[in-house]
Amino acid sequence: MSPLTASYRHTAFTAEPEQLSTPEIWAVAHAVRGQMAAPLHRRLALDDIEASVARADVNGVTFDIDWDLEHEVLNPAGQAVMGVTEYDRASPECVMVSINGPALTVHENLLRSTIAHELGHVVFDAPSWVTTTPAGCAFLSPDTPPGSGRRDPRELRANEFMGALLVPPALLRVDVQRHAKKARFAPSPHPSRIIRGAPAYDACAQDADALGEAVFALAELYGVSESFMRVRLARYDLVRARRLHAHSSSSNA
Ligand SMILES: [Zn+2]
Repeated sequence: MSPLTASYRHTAFTAEPEQLSTPEIWAVAHAVRGQMAAPLHRRLALDDIEASVARADVNGVTFDIDWDLEHEVLNPAGQAVMGVTEYDRASPECVMVSINGPALTVHENLLRSTIAHELGHVVFDAPSWVTTTPAGCAFLSPDTPPGSGRRDPRELRANEFMGALLVPPALLRVDVQRHAKKARFAPSPHPSRIIRGAPAYDACAQDADALGEAVFALAELYGVSESFMRVRLARYDLVRARRLHAHSSSSNA
């Protein structure tokens, strides 16, 4: 199977990403997704990630990806975490991703978002580990228990990648419009500030139940939680609302 390829602005010497804008991160997610799914498919299949994404070529840096979804995952402090991406110079060709399968298999949406998040670390953080890590040294993704470390730029980047990988803006705008038409939502006079030309909807101007149903249906369609979908709707400025935004801090760890 050919490697998953990705490219973005980076420092050639260290292979570290430059400070990427959100649209640049979304563009990488779009390119990666294009290698994993048909263009119009909504629910990204991640069930066979071990086989389907076993090797990567990121900005010309190539490495294997060894996925482990079978074991509990602890951080260095001994706390359970959802996932971790790590590199050990002892196996210089390989980046290891551990997903806490035993804790997550009953929460399928969370399992999917965790895989997508760790894939973000693989794409953006692993190339510099592979390129610059001296012998005997190991690296760990900065994943921390929920509630801490959210401002780490590597975490924000992995989360933004996860969001756009699972719910691409170009697809969601189409689905939002379809639901809006069906439920007769009135568009805001101000279109999305994020997706050029896409109508936006003010949540307070719509029927709350109908809007809730639409969010539920969209979450199902993409295989994500409703809170995850609310974050995407807000990030793409397709639906605006304090009410809709209420759970937006719970996207992922
Ligand atoms: Zn992380």
